[in-house]
Amino acid sequence: MVQLTGLQTAPGLKSKNILSLRDSSTEAIIELIQSIINCNPDVDEPFYVMDLGAIVGLFKMWNHFFKNVQPFYAVKCNPDPAFLGTMAALGAGFDCASRREIEAVLALGVAADRIIYPNPCKPESDIRLAAKVGVNLTTFDSIYELSKIKKHHPKCSLLLRLKAPDESGARIPLGTKFGALPEEVEPLLRAAKNAELTVIGVSFHVGSAATNSDTYREAIALAKSVFDVANKIGGACMRMLNIGGGFMAGTQFEETTNVIKTAIETCFSDMPELEVIAEPGRFFAETALTLAMKIIGKRVRDQLYEYWISDGIHGSLSCIKNNSADLMVMPLACYSDSDNIMCAAKVRYQSTIFGPTCDAMDTILKGELLPELEVGDWLVSPNMGAYKKSMGSGFNGFLTSDTPVYLGYSCGN
Ligand SMILES: *Cc1c(COP(=O)(O)O)cnc(C)c1O
Repeated sequence: MVQLTGLQTAPGLKSKNILSLRDSSTEAIIELIQSIINCNPDVDEPFYVMDLGAIVGLFKMWNHFFKNVQPFYAVKCNPDPAFLGTMAALGAGFDCASRREIEAVLALGVAADRIIYPNPCKPESDIRLAAKVGVNLTTFDSIYELSKIKKHHPKCSLLLRLKAPDESGARIPLGTKFGALPEEVEPLLRAAKNAELTVIGVSFHVGSAATNSDTYREAIALAKSVFDVANKIGGACMRMLNIGGGFMAGTQFEETTNVIKTAIETCFSDMPELEVIAEPGRFFAETALTLAMKIIGKRVRDQLYEYWISDGIHGSLSCIKNNSADLMVMPLACYSDSDNIMCAAKVRYQSTIFGPTCDAMDTILKGELLPELEVGDWLVSPNMGAYKKSMGSGFNGFLTSDTPVYLGYSCGN
């Protein structure tokens, strides 16, 4: 396993300053955030702290429970070069869904055979790029995709992307947009055979942040039925199952992996040589980053406390347009109240938190009970590594891609 010294020389991390963290606890991260603020008192912009040690710990956890499942990290979840460099040093492969993602991973010195391109609907120019650089595994769920692949990358190995049977437990379902229906499987496999394209297996994605591990079981059973159809038709060389993403770090991970391993053993008992891969995004990124946001404005009106902060729905907090349940803010009252960092004992008031743009929709929390805060105080949100910075825009001049990411390393994970 890679230690700090290994990471310091990894691409994407070289020449970056890595700050030391006591451990991976919230308190240790808060202390680091506090010291960053103390060193940069004039900064108004939000910033992240990324705990490289937490990523190392998650990798160990993945290998422990999922020894034979090679992870291809889904770059869109968090494409920070230091994050990608850490994943590369740890031995992950990469799931790239666009030309720029492929180029970003290649630029880190990662070999093309560690990259897969599982976007089922790709621009033709991007397919040409994949062919040129040697990215040789992609997915499809329509005959139109097959003709594009035939034209631009006929040697590419293919996985048939299935619509997962039930995504009811996912925070972000994907099945409305992607995946072949059961009745489409046979015509698709026949079309691939007629085009002399090489189908080597099946992929699915049960939706992001899946809470119901039965969905994986059902999807694996469905995948097996596709293997059977392909073998009946002939011409394919079925050897790979891609179980996608949707995983969350935490206590449920062990149960999820057990369900998946049992389902694979049961459904594919006749195929001990089956190659199983996955495309985890959130699993590795979510808990590794904490976001700090400054209070840049305040108004008190009829007992309602209103605050403007330096990040919002057009920035790192676009996720709350879909679901605010995963956003937790904690005050870090470092300037107005340095003796009581977490404001633990204070009276709390109904508070509204607005983002920095001139869009009235840019409202982050309403009815939140918070101690009284002052302009210049900071709020902290843990678990902000997945689909946050990567989904922000530059609306109104608040450029999310410029949000700095400070690196910390906690050993002993
Ligand atoms: C987004 C995506 C992933 C990553 O999903 P997580 O829920 O973050 O694990 C994996 N595969 C595909 C095809 C995706 O679109």
